[in-house]
Amino acid sequence: MRDSYDIVIIGGGVIGASVLWNLKSQGFEGSIGLFERGDALAEETSAKSAGAFRNLWGSRINMEMATYSIGFLKTFETDFSIPIGFHQHGYLFTFYPEPWERIKSYKPTFDETGVKAELLSPEEVEKMVPGLKAGLDHIDSDIVEFAGFEPIAGGLFGPDCGSFDPSAAAKGYIERAQKEYGEDIEVHLRTEVKRIQFDAGKVKGVELADGSKIGTSMLVLAAGPWSAQLLSASGLQDDENLPYDATKRQLFVTNLPDIAGYDNIPLVIIDRGIYFKYETGNLQIGRADPDQAPGFDQEPSLAYYKDEIGPYMQERIPGTEHCNVKSMWGGLYSITRADHNGILGQHPAYSGLYLANGWSGHGAMVAPAASLALAELIVHGSYKTIDAAPLRFERFAENDLVVEDIVI
Ligand SMILES: Cc1cc2nc3c(=O)[nH]c(=O)nc-3n(C[C@H](O)[C@H](O)[C@H](O)COP(=O)(O)OP(=O)(O)OC[C@H]3O[C@@H](n4cnc5c(N)ncnc54)[C@H](O)[C@@H]3O)c2cc1C
Repeated sequence: MRDSYDIVIIGGGVIGASVLWNLKSQGFEGSIGLFERGDALAEETSAKSAGAFRNLWGSRINMEMATYSIGFLKTFETDFSIPIGFHQHGYLFTFYPEPWERIKSYKPTFDETGVKAELLSPEEVEKMVPGLKAGLDHIDSDIVEFAGFEPIAGGLFGPDCGSFDPSAAAKGYIERAQKEYGEDIEVHLRTEVKRIQFDAGKVKGVELADGSKIGTSMLVLAAGPWSAQLLSASGLQDDENLPYDATKRQLFVTNLPDIAGYDNIPLVIIDRGIYFKYETGNLQIGRADPDQAPGFDQEPSLAYYKDEIGPYMQERIPGTEHCNVKSMWGGLYSITRADHNGILGQHPAYSGLYLANGWSGHGAMVAPAASLALAELIVHGSYKTIDAAPLRFERFAENDLVVEDIVI
């Protein structure tokens, strides 16, 4: 290991890995050291992700970033010579009557920005998801009332959406960077950064867990849900620190229901934000628990599936009561408190400190665009491909939030 690098990246998930490659491909000529505390790259949040991507967003910045990223991921396997399971199976949001009226108004913006989006009738939704019943006649009226079911008034379908393996992509980015730019790049696993050192508001270096000190004047913080902890250990408190909460999210894998056609469904979002997709002979199912307290607990809970997902899913899609959980895991979202969107760019109070954090539930799908944007900012001094200024840290103090309507 050198005793200094021109840039240090903390974290070897999909964000850190993609920033590394983008810095070099944008022409950064200096040395880069990437420090990952795990035994392998991208084994944390990036590995626990559903890996879904969609360009159906209400805010322009998310729409642009996702659209760019989908295009990039589409040719990733060939460009980076690594399989990443890229599959455009589509995304189908279903809506109750009141939000449906609002969602329909996004169609002109989708058309204008070239985002393919189809508005589906309840009958078309039923055709796309075998066994799903859009109405409520088949559900006991007491259950309808207790569970707050409403009829599905329509569906928003995005044919370009799909999923990929963010962890494999992270490895692809690093392997290609090492192959192309070899000597300038050092990736150190089992290397934990204990604190970032500053001198008069400027990045000076990092102190590692083994006590060694590495000099640098530029640092990319891509430590996922642990980024705010690290800033706190480095002396940044309150309004200077990242305003997100690490919060557990869970995924469950079940057998397919005994209904024909489940190997060909899009990712579907139904009642209470329950989402599911076909995943190599199984169903992968998730739902963000609105009552989940912030924290670093990642333990999955079968009771959560049995109480909060299964009973609701089986009413909407009779037959799914035979879907039994085969495996499950928990991971951490970094939920930006004010607007659930990423925080990208230089820290306003610390020169040389670059942030790529707070991605909430969509960090994997925007990684190609976000990392390109950050690399452009560092290498060229401004954004070139996508103007990522809406994601700046300062937006919280300025109350200029990125309001996003199409959330799960
Ligand atoms: C259950 C679940 C489902 C999700 N589904 C989706 C989805 O469908 N689509 C989507 O786009 N996003 C999804 N996400 C979110 C997405 O996975 C994340 O936004 C993305 O992976 C963040 O990548 P990252 O590189 O910032 O974080 P990580 O992958 O967590 O990488 C950060 C790395 O930093 C390392 N690190 C931390 N602290 C230190 C330190 N002090 N020193 C050195 N290394 C350190 C960690 O070990 C880790 O490897 C999901 C997340 C979860 C939990």
